[in-house]
Amino acid sequence: MTHKEWPFVEAARIRHRLEKIGRRSVTAETGYGPSGLPHIGTFGEVARTSFVLQALAALEPGIDARIVAFSDDMDGLREVPKNLPNAAMLQQHLGKPLTSIPDPFGEEKSFAHYMNRKLREFLDSYGFRYEFASSTEKYASGAFDDGLRRIMRNYDAISELFKATIAEEKRSAWSPFFPICENCGRIYSTRVTGTDPSACAVTYACDAPLAGKYQSCGHTGARSILGGGCKVGWKVDWALRWFCLGIDYEMHGEDLLESARLSSRIVKILGGEPPELFKYELFLDEKGKKISKKIGNGISLEQWLRFAPVDSLLYLMYMKPQQAKKMGVPILPEIVDQYLELVAQDDGAEDSPVPFISRLSKGAHAGRLPGGRIITYSLILELILALNQDDPRIVRDYLLRYEPEIGSNVAYYEQLIEDALAYYREVLLPGRTVESADHQLDEAVSALRDELARRAGANAPADPDELQTMVFQVAKDREIRTRDWFRSLYRIFLGQSQGPRIGSFIALLGYATCVDRLDAHLAKGPNG
Ligand SMILES: [Zn+2]
Repeated sequence: MTHKEWPFVEAARIRHRLEKIGRRSVTAETGYGPSGLPHIGTFGEVARTSFVLQALAALEPGIDARIVAFSDDMDGLREVPKNLPNAAMLQQHLGKPLTSIPDPFGEEKSFAHYMNRKLREFLDSYGFRYEFASSTEKYASGAFDDGLRRIMRNYDAISELFKATIAEEKRSAWSPFFPICENCGRIYSTRVTGTDPSACAVTYACDAPLAGKYQSCGHTGARSILGGGCKVGWKVDWALRWFCLGIDYEMHGEDLLESARLSSRIVKILGGEPPELFKYELFLDEKGKKISKKIGNGISLEQWLRFAPVDSLLYLMYMKPQQAKKMGVPILPEIVDQYLELVAQDDGAEDSPVPFISRLSKGAHAGRLPGGRIITYSLILELILALNQDDPRIVRDYLLRYEPEIGSNVAYYEQLIEDALAYYREVLLPGRTVESADHQLDEAVSALRDELARRAGANAPADPDELQTMVFQVAKDREIRTRDWFRSLYRIFLGQSQGPRIGSFIALLGYATCVDRLDAHLAKGPNG
């Protein structure tokens, strides 16, 4: 049979690589930045890499394949992450390697040890097979020393390559090495002042002008680049890992395309071969906007796993990673339904995503994919809304009456009902009372604003009684309760819930001022 699905295409590339070098083992890498908790991107990368190795096992049985989940835990902390305790303590340690900063939760040896544990717990709970690797351990143990020596030996070639990609004013200060200050322990406060290739050492000053928000202590000294004394900068670091760990395969987001190109050239300078790389597109939110931590759009891993089965998330990761796809809380039911329908129509073909997903999904839905006739997640949500019902047993009994065939798979649906109930409680229920009312009110405010603006433009006389009737009518047209309407107008105009007769008040204030106030309110957006 022909294998057209992308994991098989990728697996064929790996097989070709192995044939070329005459090897029967493959090492794939996934990256994790432990400055925060594992997120949906971390999950996606491990899942997709696992899909590729599954396809490889089908194409070429007997190949020894492993995933190295690499934690970049020697990286310095650049800013205090939100939603973590002990922010003041973390602030004092900014610029230090993550393994040298105390655990804000007070449970592990360091900040990074805590985050690494979370990563492992999370990957283990879903049955991923991987080997964990810590950057700090690799540097400290000497596992990277051969590569580091090669970087020193090829300092000029790497510098030349790198400097062409950065702003001119940054070129003179650039060095691949980031010494850790022996006095203050910071990594992003140091600046290399000289190199001693024969001793594999650099001299440095802890006074980097770019340090900015990090404290620098002014210390000067010399440090070996080996054994954990220095880290190398990100793109060189990526090449170093590929070289020293013998990485054959790695995927990365579209945002790291330039880094991947540069790291590929650096690893060749070191005498290695770049891995087979696979670029995936980043997810967008439900409106098609890029997902960013700053905006906080998109959906968190915790939310997804609370609202829907893990197999639906695996499905999302399987489908066309080279196309930008939307994900977000509002469209979660749609995505879960697409998955359920896919499972229902599955014909057992090797290319189908279903066996890939079922081999990986462990946890609540382990090995219990829905089969045969299905009931969609949306239908369950509608039923919950119609029943206005929070009891999973009652919802289940309704479903069984509606579609008795699901009785053979009742455990799957019991979990799906629990998931849908969580979505109902956290997403639909709060939105139902607050959002629709606010939305209606804002529409009315907007209509009132337009009417007042029209009158201002026409120099219409301001008659308090006539204005009162008009304001009243705006609410009536939209079936808004008079009390709610006037209360919200008083809030907008006066910042309190009561006030004078609104018609007289508008006449007093004048059209232009009223329009300005309403505009300012509308600019604040919903719930503003
Ligand atoms: Zn220092």
